[in-house]
Amino acid sequence: MKRDPRTIILTLSRCLKLRCPACGQASVFQKLFNVREYCPACDVTFKREEGFFVGAIMANVVTTELFILLVYFFCLVFTHLNEQIMLTVLFVVGVTFPLVFYHHSWSLWLGLDHLIEGLPKRGHR
Ligand SMILES: [Zn+2]
Repeated sequence: MKRDPRTIILTLSRCLKLRCPACGQASVFQKLFNVREYCPACDVTFKREEGFFVGAIMANVVTTELFILLVYFFCLVFTHLNEQIMLTVLFVVGVTFPLVFYHHSWSLWLGLDHLIEGLPKRGHR
């Protein structure tokens, strides 16, 4: 499905705010680390078939690895930390970043799916 740049920016901004990518009215999450089954405002399905969110997990893993690399290069260039402290810093980043980015990875994955094929309404899988 072809999308114009304004639609893409609008959808991605809704995702960054953890809102429904289709309408932007409701949160994608019911509570921490718990994705809603569907949007209470526009009725699109958030929880798709089994395995759908493997992509969200993969996005989280790849983003975490890139962020660890970024922190590592930052430490190499701008600090003079010894190896043990640097490894400790990278370990802490590697454990906390995926938890902090968890909701956004799921929301962005949903938004990407919405941009590519559109999220189905409940009962129309
Ligand atoms: Zn909605």
